[in-house]
Parts: sequence; structure tokens; C-alpha cells
Amino acid sequence: MPEHILIKWRNKDARGSVDIIDFSWFEKKREIQDQQHPTMLGKEMVSSKFDLVPMDSGLLFRYGGKHAAANAKQGIFPGDMIIVPAELPNTKEKYPLDTQIAWREDSVGAQYEQLPVRILLGYPEGKRRGLWSATSTRHAQLASIKRGLARAKGKMTCEACGTTGHEAYGSAVERIFEVHHKVAISGGQRVTTIDNLALICANCHNALHGLGKIALRIFWLVSDEVLGHPSGPCLITQPLTAH
Ligand SMILES: [Zn+2]
Ligand SMILES: [Zn+2]
Repeated sequence: MPEHILIKWRNKDARGSVDIIDFSWFEKKREIQDQQHPTMLGKEMVSSKFDLVPMDSGLLFRYGGKHAAANAKQGIFPGDMIIVPAELPNTKEKYPLDTQIAWREDSVGAQYEQLPVRILLGYPEGKRRGLWSATSTRHAQLASIKRGLARAKGKMTCEACGTTGHEAYGSAVERIFEVHHKVAISGGQRVTTIDNLALICANCHNALHGLGKIALRIFWLVSDEVLGHPSGPCLITQPLTAH
């Protein structure tokens, strides 16, 4: 299970703020008063105060009303936010990923509007399995979500070289793609999101780990964004058969 949901606001007014919400809120089925979650405003971390109200199809976060003054003081917009989770392809659970977010200001007669956001699920990873273990915890589910999203867009494409595989691979074509951690999993505990992963073909993946940073320029389509920090081991997922 993911641990957090990160909501990156893309509307101009929000100036790139990110709300960090506990995934467990989505399992709560009752109204809960006086909660708070962290919000990143630039490099500053503030605390957003809200009441949580379950709805038929989603969750309502109330940052206004009695919380309006405290939130406004910290630079948080007081208002109501509704998150309606969308079902992710190839997973049984509902994930608030391609999610709709509706927002309205905390003022009389304000209407809900859709604001542009990027939703990321955060999974805890990188914890040592034991004192003598060289391996660290990782989430296979995260990799399958990455694959599921790529599949949903149509053909899988290597984020490094752009290949979509050979026609002759037929239904096995997805097996050439692997999921790469941009930040090496051996680097210690962290919260991993989809943005920290790249879907690349097995050739590029091997080369990437074999060559190290300098030689990465051979990937003519690649940006630093895709490559991350390739030194150290990373999760090489078993290819999944299409289903
Ligand atoms: Zn490739
Ligand atoms: Zn890798």
C-alpha cells in the first residue's frame, strides 16, 4: 500500500505547493474534525488544518470555516477540496491517481472548479531488510503501477532510447521493459513516487547501470530527469506478462 498521496498543485496561484496526505484517510468512513497534514510551500513546510468528511464517491477536505484563519496565516488557501479516486488499470484497488480534484474558495456562493494537479502515490522503500542483509525493501506494486500507466497510454516506450520493441515480439513485447529507480534503492529509506521511476528497455537498463553517469550521454533522447542517479543497484522488475 502507498503511505502518502502527494498533490502537486499546478495552478499559478498555488506556486507549486504540494499537499502530503496520508493514504489511510481514504479508508476512513467517518467524519473527523481537527486534522492536519504537511504542505510544502517552496522549501518551507507548513501544517494545513482541516476537517475530513467522507462522501459517496470521494473525500472532502475542509480547510475553511473554523480553520480558515489558521490556514490563511500560514499561506494556505482556505476552502473545500474534494478528491475522487480513479481506478488504475490492472490493479484491483482504487487509487487517487488520475484523479479529479475539485476546489472552491471559502466564501459565500463560491463554486467548485477543477484545478490542474499532479497526484503521486508515495510508497515507503529502502529500509534494510535486516542487520546483515544487503537488500532493502521495495514495492513491486509501485513498479506494476508504473507499467500499468504506460500500458494505459498505448504502446510502452523506452524513456531512454524511445524504442517500442520489435513487431515480431508480438504479445511478449512488454517483457523487454524494466522499471528503473532514478534514486538508487540502496541509498536508504525514502518515500518513492511514480515520478522517481523510469520505464526503460532491458538494453538501456543494462547499459545505464554498467556505464555510470558520464557515458549516459549516449542516450540521445534521455534527459537527466529520466536518468536520475544510476550508480548503485536498482530494482530490476521481472517482466510481467500481459493480462
Ligand atoms: Zn531503451
Ligand atoms: Zn535501474
